This record gives sequence, structure tokens and C-alpha cells, in this order.
Amino acid sequence: LVRNTDLAADERVRRDYAVLSRALLAGASGQLRNRATTAGNLLQRTRCPYFYDTHQPCNKRLPGSGCAALEGFSRQHAVVGVSDACIATHPSDMAVAMRVLDAVVETVKPDGSERRIALDDFYRAPGTTPHLETVLTPGELIVAVTLPPPSGGTHIYRKVRDRASYAFALVSVAAVIQPDGTGRVALGGVAHKPWRLDTADAQIPQGAQAVYDALFAGAKPTPENQFKLILAKRTLASVLTEARA
Ligand SMILES: Cc1cc2nc3c(=O)[nH]c(=O)nc-3n(C[C@H](O)[C@H](O)[C@H](O)COP(=O)(O)OP(=O)(O)OC[C@H]3O[C@@H](n4cnc5c(N)ncnc54)[C@H](O)[C@@H]3O)c2cc1C
Ligand code: SF4
Repeated sequence: LVRNTDLAADERVRRDYAVLSRALLAGASGQLRNRATTAGNLLQRTRCPYFYDTHQPCNKRLPGSGCAALEGFSRQHAVVGVSDACIATHPSDMAVAMRVLDAVVETVKPDGSERRIALDDFYRAPGTTPHLETVLTPGELIVAVTLPPPSGGTHIYRKVRDRASYAFALVSVAAVIQPDGTGRVALGGVAHKPWRLDTADAQIPQGAQAVYDALFAGAKPTPENQFKLILAKRTLASVLTEARA
């Protein structure tokens, strides 16, 4: 019975929230996907190599120690929404689709109080405290992630990466485009959190260049990762063309 219920839920996600199922299928491997949880995926840490190398300074791992990526290898790192303290990206594919779908995170605190947090408010900007990644408080548990009623439209998740599987996004685009040309886009691989701006969504009918201009007006790439800007523009153009075909 449980299995049947889950299958029906799977089918509903594939039918009504296809951008989410496509993002999930673009992540990790079958084995990892079958074990990973929704909350764990939202809360996975950055893949910045210096975060894991305890011989290197890293403000996210050890606040105030510095950021080795700023003068180091930064090909994978963020190009927008960065700070002088941290240029890490958030690695989740699922979170990018959840963001374009306006997902809400539901939590319970140790005192039993409950909260509903829009995904955009859930993740913090790096600022001067990149070790604080979300607005969760100590002991607060995610108990559900909910999606608004289906919005229809064409759903696309395009992930560009160094190899076809088992790799994190250099740039990804989640898009839900309506028949009248309006829609929403969120990008992965470019910022500390899924990157979506209302001002960029408003430009979707004008085309990819206008959307790109709005999304990346404040971009601050490094010499090693400035290629991500061109990649993001081309991926946006490709996705919007496909959505309108
Ligand atoms: C080789 C490899 C490749 C990968 N490739 C991708 C990829 O391409 N795309 C992608 O998106 N991901 C990728 N991943 C990441 C993978 O999807 C995550 O490791 C996985 O989603 C984490 O889920 P989990 O349930 O195991 O979380 P855990 O590792 O168990 O938890 C992560 C964090 O969340 C906390 N947590 C878990 N549940 C809750 C809760 N309910 N409330 C509060 N806190 C909670 C845990 O305490 C922990 O701090 C990859 C991982 C590996 C190892
Ligand atoms: S980019 Fe962020 S995670 Fe990486 S070394 Fe710098 S502070 Fe640490």
C-alpha cells in the first residue's frame, strides 16, 4: 500500500512538477538518489575543495580564517551574490527546481513551535558570516517541503557540467515557461543559493539577453570562472528557445 501511494506521488511530481523530477534525475547517481533525503539535499554543504582541506583557510569552516578560493582555484565557484568572505556555490540541483517552483520549507523547533519558510528566505547570502548558510536555528528540524498547486507551463531543467553524470553543475537552469511567454527561471552553480530574481523573471518575454542582464547585473567573477557568465547566457538562451518551440 505504501509503495502504491509513493508511486502515485512520483507520477504526480513527474506530471505536475516536471522541472523537479528532471533536476532530481540530473543529480548524483541512482544509488545516491535512492538514499538521499529531501531535507539532506537542501542542507548539503558546498563542494568548495578548500572547505574540506583543513590545511587551508576557509571562513565557512573556520570563521575569520580567510578564504583560500579567492586567490586559489575558483573555476567551480560563484559569480554572483558573492562576498569578500566566501565565493562558494550551493551544489544542490533539487534546490534550484524547488526555488523556481516557490517551495516552502516547514520546520519544527525543539520547543514544538512550527515555521513555514519560503525557500528564498531559507538560504542566507554569504556576507561576513558564510558559516551560517540557512535561517534554521539549533535543533530546528525540517519536517516537510511543500509546493504550491501546479502552475502548468513547460518545465525544463538544463544542467551543464564537466561530464554527463556524477558531476555537479557548472551552470544549471530551471525554467517554467507559460504559453503566453511569461515564466520563471532559477539558476544553479552560480551563487551561494539557487539564483532567482523577480526582476529577471519579468524580463522573460524580452528574451535571454534581458533575463541574463537582470540576473547578473551584480556579477563578480574571478578570472577562472568568468566563463560561467557566457555559459549562463547561452544556457538561458537554449532553454528559452526550447520552451517556446
Ligand atoms: C559523489 C556524489 C555526487 C553528488 N552529486 C550531486 C549532484 O549532482 N547534485 C546534487 O544535488 N547533489 C549531489 N550529491 C549530494 C547528494 O545529493 C547529497 O549528499 C544528499 O542529497 C544528501 O542527502 P542526505 O539525506 O544523505 O543528507 P545528510 O548528509 O544525511 O544530511 C545533510 C545535512 O542535513 C542535515 N539534515 C538532514 N535531514 C534533516 C532534517 N530533516 N532537518 C534538519 N536537518 C537535517 C544533516 O544533519 C546534515 O547536516 C552528490 C553526492 C555525492 C557523494
Ligand atoms: S569559497 Fe567559501 S567555502 Fe570555499 S574557501 Fe572560501 S570561505 Fe571556504
